[in-house]
Amino acid sequence: MNYDGCAHWAYPVSNGMEEILKIEDKNNEKFLRQKTVKFEFKEHSLKELKALVKSMRETMKRADGVGLSANQIGLPFRMFVAQVADANGKPKFYAIFNPEITKITTEMEILEEGCLSVPEVWGPVERHYRLTLAGEDINGKKIKIKAWGLLARVFQHEMDHLNGGLFIDKAHELRKKPASDRLVAREERLKDKN
Ligand SMILES: [Zn+2]
Repeated sequence: MNYDGCAHWAYPVSNGMEEILKIEDKNNEKFLRQKTVKFEFKEHSLKELKALVKSMRETMKRADGVGLSANQIGLPFRMFVAQVADANGKPKFYAIFNPEITKITTEMEILEEGCLSVPEVWGPVERHYRLTLAGEDINGKKIKIKAWGLLARVFQHEMDHLNGGLFIDKAHELRKKPASDRLVAREERLKDKN
């Protein structure tokens, strides 16, 4: 996908079949390493945005991901989608424009992460356990979300993407296949508290 960098965005939405940029391609890596720009609502119609969110949601689902940032599909602005189960185990979908972390606690948790832009690589990443994310919804209305655990982790992972970062910069070690260290990580967190 080519993005010419001009201010007007004419996005060819491809109904859940967006190409996810991977770092194996040097041009894609360069794009993923750039900090994204503020999303301007006045440049887009609600119809365009609905099509974009729907397509990103389906692309994320198809790739079996829990989060996807706009720059992962070649768009240069600050926006991401995520889907994580809520406290009742029901999947909750988020589409957040111009997100910002406004509060963060010092409690940390280490869990293994992977990334749709870095295939076949996993590694444990230390993240803040609890945070507040502010941003705008699809209508440009201000929203605030209190998140903890996996949702807070996904938000931090996507914020890193929007700032040109990747989880491999923060992972303690990288593996070629996922380890089942989720429980180990939780135990470490509990141990730290004692
Ligand atoms: Zn990622």
